[in-house]
Amino acid sequence: MCRRVHRVAFTAALAATAGCTSVRSSALALNGDDPTPLASAPCASCVPTTLGSDVAQAVEKRLTELKAQGGPCSSYAAVLERSYRNGRIVIRPFMWRVGSQLTSGEATPNGDMILAREIDPLNVGVRTVGDLLWTLEHEAAHVAFKLGNGVTEDRANDYVRACK
Ligand SMILES: [Zn+2]
Repeated sequence: MCRRVHRVAFTAALAATAGCTSVRSSALALNGDDPTPLASAPCASCVPTTLGSDVAQAVEKRLTELKAQGGPCSSYAAVLERSYRNGRIVIRPFMWRVGSQLTSGEATPNGDMILAREIDPLNVGVRTVGDLLWTLEHEAAHVAFKLGNGVTEDRANDYVRACK
């Protein structure tokens, strides 16, 4: 279900996130003077920007395993690790639409990644930590091996499958 989109769409998504973050930051800065901080107001467009501890632990474990396997596994692990350590993985609460398809992950060649935590607000079907890891590894394979859209979806999945 993952696919890559071109940089313009990705930048727009990041811009929306960044704008939201800056609003929250300025609201927090006012906390000392304002008894009713804006930060407590709901922000419908805000998305979590960090991985949950369960996912972070799973990523750390997988990075160790992938690097130990060497070859293509450690090649895409290096991409994933760089994105992970540099905080370039943005989490969205749910999957999103790109054209007619639901998307669980996107990546750009520079290593920016967006990952869906759940499928939808009801989380029908449930995305497990294993699903999240698969998406991250799939996106890292896209970047590491310069795989574009279309038939390369299968190739990206083949890399991940071979490293399990
Ligand atoms: Zn893909």
